[in-house]
Amino acid sequence: MTEPAREEIVFHGIAASPGVVHGRAYLYQPNELDVPCYRVESDKLDAEIERFEQAILSTRGQITEVRNKIAASLGEGEARIFDAHLMVLEDSALIDEVVAEVRKSKNNVEHCYNDVALRYISFFSSMDDDYLKERVTDIQDVSRRLLHNLVGVKKVDLSHLKEPSIIICADLTPSDTAAIDRHKLLGFVTDLGGKTSHSVIMARSLRIPAVVGMHDVSERIRTGDQILVDGYDGIVVINPSADRLYQYGQIAGERLKLDNIFKSVLNEPSESSDGQAIELMANIEGVEEMEIAQEMCADGVGLFRTEGVFLRHHGYPSEEAQYKEYSAVVQAAGKSIVTIRTLDIGGDKTIGDTDQDEDSSFMGFRAIRFCLGNPKIFKTQLRAILRASASGNVKLMYPMISGLHELRKANEYLAEVKLELSDEGHAFDANIEVGAMIEIPSAAMIIDLLAPEVDFFSIGTNDLIQYLMAADRLNDQVAHLYEPAHPAVLRTLKAIITKCRELNIPISVCGEIAGDPIYASLLLGMGANSLSLTSSLLPEVKYFIRKIDMDQAKGLVDEVLTINDPIQVVSRLEEFRKEAVGTLINE
Ligand code: PEP
Ligand code: MG
Repeated sequence: MTEPAREEIVFHGIAASPGVVHGRAYLYQPNELDVPCYRVESDKLDAEIERFEQAILSTRGQITEVRNKIAASLGEGEARIFDAHLMVLEDSALIDEVVAEVRKSKNNVEHCYNDVALRYISFFSSMDDDYLKERVTDIQDVSRRLLHNLVGVKKVDLSHLKEPSIIICADLTPSDTAAIDRHKLLGFVTDLGGKTSHSVIMARSLRIPAVVGMHDVSERIRTGDQILVDGYDGIVVINPSADRLYQYGQIAGERLKLDNIFKSVLNEPSESSDGQAIELMANIEGVEEMEIAQEMCADGVGLFRTEGVFLRHHGYPSEEAQYKEYSAVVQAAGKSIVTIRTLDIGGDKTIGDTDQDEDSSFMGFRAIRFCLGNPKIFKTQLRAILRASASGNVKLMYPMISGLHELRKANEYLAEVKLELSDEGHAFDANIEVGAMIEIPSAAMIIDLLAPEVDFFSIGTNDLIQYLMAADRLNDQVAHLYEPAHPAVLRTLKAIITKCRELNIPISVCGEIAGDPIYASLLLGMGANSLSLTSSLLPEVKYFIRKIDMDQAKGLVDEVLTINDPIQVVSRLEEFRKEAVGTLINE
């Protein structure tokens, strides 16, 4: 008997990384814990209970450590939640119940603990009292931690993916993606997330289709389901019909034709139709992406995100390990510029079990704030970057500068490190150019004050937009507010670029909008003449730039700055793109 064909189900989300893929789904649940259940012999029951006591002790140690870190960085008020966790952990009624259950049932302690904790959770959940209801989360947190200690398993990760799959999950962090064998990653679909999350940026750079902001898709798709992901329009289809697959086959064919048209200009100069040279640089995370950048004829590297190096090492790599990674990129780049950005950890990127692990806020202790608060880590990285500068054309860039004080402090550390390296006889580029990212509104307002301290600026629109709009770049529920075409964003970009031109300080743009042809024309019209983007988008942007007349691009800027509605701005930019490139295929 043949199984009836399962029904096709279509979901809509946010189109995050272009492309279409059809394949097997893999449901990734990183926090899922398999609690084992087995019998314990009578003479081993004491040892089983001792195991429980040991697990309580280590859990106590972990919670106290986190508590103290939070108290030191954020204050006693914020740390109080962990006092509540300690009370739950050491609740004698709960402990006694678990011990009694182990002795009575002769089952292993994790199974008994899980049972008792679930009973407490269901009891508190049914209460009318809000305070008691809140205790449910405390019990869930504590029991998860204690069970992890008892079961002794490492968190599940994606490094063991057996076959090429489309990853389905609630959320995908950069440390998750760092673990994946990229040849096995066909695409991904997440419940949460926005267009500029770092996992999405990685997907775009590897040309892996992705759809995010699907709300509850991870509860609807199972491992092994056949799914189709359309990263152009943000569509995910479970059990796609033969008709649908045929239709998408046609779309893929058309896209291939377009890609070939774009690639036809790769060896041509990067300049506007009236001959103005535009620097097209690549955003990379390591030496592998350097190869793609070169295939796409990038003029150099405008942004080397060094967080990838740290994530791959699962912690803070030594100076030597970092030096190796940076040098590999610098050497591969030959004479071209490599702009190495100092560690921008925090937000959606966390490294191992460290101080910043507790702070996943984009407005918290991240990037240069973290580095200035951890001089040892910062100076180790500066040493490695400076040493790598001896073998090529390196620039150094600080992320998340918010004011003059931070910039001066960072430069002081740089000066100290230069002295140390000279004393130790290490070679480095003593005149290395230093730049700051402009990605915080406060920095955008004081370009004139920051300019004397640096050699160049680069606008990080991914962050700048989220801070200007107060719309978290990862939160799909406010994704509609994250609008690059908002008049506030356009005016800010224009003001930054105009000020830099006035002061004669080089300005480039390295946020994701630099890789979107419709915004690229606007940025060039505003006066930026260097863009840094994901290499995979370089052919299309170059193709378009070669069709743009600069006077027309300037006119476009004046025109859109008078439009109040972001949707109308986008249609005008789209129209401008179409006018410039004409019809390429029968769209
Ligand atoms: C940006 O914010 O635009 C940027 C390029 O940096 P990141 O995306 O790494 O925060
Ligand atoms: Mg940024």
